[in-house]
Amino acid sequence: MLIINCPYCGERDQSEFSNGGQAHVARPSDPEKLNDKEWSEYVFVRSNPKGIFFERWVHSHGCRKWFNAVRNTATDEILKIYKLNEKPPSLDEFTNNLKTPSGEPELGSGNFTVKK
Ligand SMILES: [Zn+2]
Repeated sequence: MLIINCPYCGERDQSEFSNGGQAHVARPSDPEKLNDKEWSEYVFVRSNPKGIFFERWVHSHGCRKWFNAVRNTATDEILKIYKLNEKPPSLDEFTNNLKTPSGEPELGSGNFTVKK
């Protein structure tokens, strides 16, 4: 079970929240100039990394406010939560603390070394 720390309400169960997908997707500055392929990529294509991911969440069964979170998709650990009007943290803040290059913990990920 995941506990999410709503920046407005405090810690609550994950079941109170809804994931809003990737954060910081910039709207095209001149959408009239996009062709259909470029527009569909803006609307539908999102990154799906294994590791650090900036995403939006809404406290849908609470205050109903949106906020951003930095989550390690390999471990499901939420590393930071910040309000929409706050500056996103630097990626360097999180990549130095990862236990493996892709972000898995040493145990429980199938990422182990066989010793002879
Ligand atoms: Zn809330």
